[in-house]
Amino acid sequence: MERIFNFSAGPAALPQEVLEQARDELVNWHGCGMSVMEMSHRGKEYMGIQAEAEADLRELLGIRPNYKVLFLQGGASSQFAMVPMNLLRGKASADYLYTGEWSKKAIKEAKKYGAVNVVASSEDKNFSYAPAQDQWKLDPNAAYVHYTSNETIGGVEIFWTPQTGNVPLVADMSSHILSRPIDVSKYGLIYFGAQKNVGPAGLTIVVVRDDLVGQTVKGTPTMFDYQIQAEADSMYNTPPTYAVYIAGLVFKMLKAKGGLAAMEKVNRAKAQLLYDALDASKFFNSPVARENRSLMNIPFTLKDEGLDDEFLKAAKARGMVQLKGHRSVGGMRASIYNAMPIEGVQALVALMKDFEKQHG
Ligand SMILES: *Cc1c(COP(=O)(O)O)cnc(C)c1O
Repeated sequence: MERIFNFSAGPAALPQEVLEQARDELVNWHGCGMSVMEMSHRGKEYMGIQAEAEADLRELLGIRPNYKVLFLQGGASSQFAMVPMNLLRGKASADYLYTGEWSKKAIKEAKKYGAVNVVASSEDKNFSYAPAQDQWKLDPNAAYVHYTSNETIGGVEIFWTPQTGNVPLVADMSSHILSRPIDVSKYGLIYFGAQKNVGPAGLTIVVVRDDLVGQTVKGTPTMFDYQIQAEADSMYNTPPTYAVYIAGLVFKMLKAKGGLAAMEKVNRAKAQLLYDALDASKFFNSPVARENRSLMNIPFTLKDEGLDDEFLKAAKARGMVQLKGHRSVGGMRASIYNAMPIEGVQALVALMKDFEKQHG
């Protein structure tokens, strides 16, 4: 079967071996005579699938027992509301770092539940960098500090862990989770939608420290209460069973490949290939500050934007799709998550060189 190189930011490419395993197990999972999609979420087969997925994720990320792992729905966008609803805990305000489109949405939503103190912003340079911690104006009385550790649209990644003292640190890791090791113990809460680097759309994972659950704001819907979800093992209602199953296959594959340290090596090599090509070129340009260049989402522009469509057409002709940049940034964006093989990046770099020769 012919597969193309899919540079979509999300839903994004899934590992081919995972898709093939899912295909083989689609109609009759492990001889039980039915598909995972048809299983009762309360049956022993599905309960086993979910428990194994959680155990594998805990192992990959090194999640300690004093953290809950929740398999939820509603996307990362629902977390923009659930985080303040659960974590304000009677405090007046929360701190937010403002580095692009996704933190903007998180801030807008949080303002419905309390005051938001923007600790620093990179709006002055069109969100092309992340302000260093010494520029943040942290409030020691804040309920928590929220940041977007990889701005998927701007391609701005933060590789250091902010220091927030006793104030819990919260991160939206939707577009770089599982791309490299992280120290979960430095965080109060981490959340991520699955459809970038984990699995199919429909699953959203929350990792939250025990002491931060159970103090929701008045009026919090039952489904939005981390404590209720945790007590029910994410089965207060029907979980997104098939998406959990596929995510579980991805976790197994990552473990077999050597875990997140091994993924980081591959991801760094892939990103370097593309950034080196951008730096060597007078025709293509990366708008992002060097120290914040994302390993996962790489926006770039052509010298003449009148050639954008032609570049996209040339890419499609060589089996590469979804390279058009987000409308707020323009140009191109190559999303090269775990599932993008290095051959895909090599093909893109070869195209860029040929295109520059022809048009530069
Ligand atoms: C994609 C994305 C979101 C939104 O995710 P949904 O699951 O569509 O709600 C939020 N934050 C970041 C960083 C993202 O990349």
